[in-house]
Amino acid sequence: MNQITHFVSGAKTAASIRTASVFNPALGLPIAEVSLASKTEVEQAIASAKEAFPVWSAMSPLSRSRILFKFKMLLDERIDELAHAITTEHGKVFEDAKGEIVRGIEVVEFACGIPQMLKGEMTEQVGSGVDAWTLNQALGVVAGITPFNFPAMVPMWMWPVAIACGNTFVLKPSEKNPTASMLIGEWLKECGLPDGVFNVINGDKEAVDVLLTHKDIQAVSFVGSTPIAEYIYGTASAHGKRVQALGGAKNHMVVMPDADIDAAVNALTGAAYGSAGERCMAISVAVAVGDIADELVAKLKEKATHLKIGNGKNLGLDMGPLISKEHHVKVKNYIDAGEAEGATLVVDGRNIVVPGAEEGYFLGGTLFDHVTPNISIYTDEIFGPVLCVVRVSDYAAAAKLINEHEYGNGTSIFTRSGAVARKFSHDIQVGMVGINIPIPVPMAFHSFGGWKRSLFGANHMHGPEGVRFYTKRKAITARWPEGDVSNAEFVMPTMK
Ligand code: NAD
Repeated sequence: MNQITHFVSGAKTAASIRTASVFNPALGLPIAEVSLASKTEVEQAIASAKEAFPVWSAMSPLSRSRILFKFKMLLDERIDELAHAITTEHGKVFEDAKGEIVRGIEVVEFACGIPQMLKGEMTEQVGSGVDAWTLNQALGVVAGITPFNFPAMVPMWMWPVAIACGNTFVLKPSEKNPTASMLIGEWLKECGLPDGVFNVINGDKEAVDVLLTHKDIQAVSFVGSTPIAEYIYGTASAHGKRVQALGGAKNHMVVMPDADIDAAVNALTGAAYGSAGERCMAISVAVAVGDIADELVAKLKEKATHLKIGNGKNLGLDMGPLISKEHHVKVKNYIDAGEAEGATLVVDGRNIVVPGAEEGYFLGGTLFDHVTPNISIYTDEIFGPVLCVVRVSDYAAAAKLINEHEYGNGTSIFTRSGAVARKFSHDIQVGMVGINIPIPVPMAFHSFGGWKRSLFGANHMHGPEGVRFYTKRKAITARWPEGDVSNAEFVMPTMK
């Protein structure tokens, strides 16, 4: 069995004592054993990153960005190899895996512009003969802890910006699909990244807890489920670290009576069932406003019934399997609960069989109508191919529904009215908003993040907020005296 270890100081390490199986979810078979790092192994990675920091942070921003430029070129060439690794361990279809890599490359491209982003502010003559300016300096060793659902893109929300700013990085990817991060470590080394600047530690809570509490970790970026995000935020903050912890989601798409209904149906189908619903920006609730609900549900039913589902390595498919057997059971249980709690099950994905992949963790597209806000399929993040339709009478009821949900990651409205769209973008208590766009993921040069219980901490990821998160600001005030400076001043200095 293939052994996946750690990537520390520019090399793969020996295997750890504890390991876990990595599965191919389309086949339902273990394909590798991943090491689960001990405290000592994590400490070694942190020590390697700490040792690399003085030289790396002292390099010019342009020299750092040139290494990232090379890496971007290399990723363009090797996108298929990385996408294949993602599809094998995650299950998402090959073209979708390529899509997430492209979104990651965009962050690398943004990070290549770091010389521009690191510029400080300067004011000449803040007082007579006194100038003031700011420096944006690296923090030191920073850590990233990432989820299974975007094995390449989510780590790339973090480390390109972090290392471009001059930090060194310890990444703890999901133990369910570690290969993408290991490849990235090797490829960065090939591009000339000095050893120790980017390290990968595979593992579980034991490894994470070291990162959250270690004195040499200055900041922690996390993406994952809300209970763990809250734990990460609380623990790492209590240990004096900067933290940005992005959590779960329940994203609503409002379909107004004046919307282009076919465009809305296509958008909903892709956003609800793409990647088997395992996206933090997946649309899991369609809010049908007024009398369009019957037509919307009929058209969604048609689409959900005809999804092409199979092993993601085969081309031309819409959707692959779920990540694991346990998650498959969990999503199925939600469908059982939705039926028991009184929602109307319009399309039931529970009994799908994929010929040749009978042991895979497949579920079909599932559609519920007449969902009410008090039942678990509405309140909870299911993270599977389950779309809930909630019927409301008007715009105000749709906005109220969204604003009262505990999550606030993404949302969208389909309408032909500029006035309604404008009101929605102002009223809605959600971090990322789409207008006739179902999955409004901001581009790399903007920042990504939700509100409410979808994000703990102040900074969103990548874009200007990413640079802000990974740098500390220093304010310099300087005078170069001429003449007599012998008199001590005992009152609070003020500018003259
Ligand atoms: P998860 O919370 O189970 O795991 C995320 C990371 O935390 C993994 O690296 C995991 O090893 C680690 N972890 C798990 N349990 C831990 C514990 N008890 N203590 C310390 N560390 C622990 O999430 P997941 O199942 O891998 O990913 C799916 C979740 O991620 C969904 O809730 C999804 O919405 C969320 N997500 C959010 C965003 C966003 O931008 N807000 C993006 C992608 C995914």
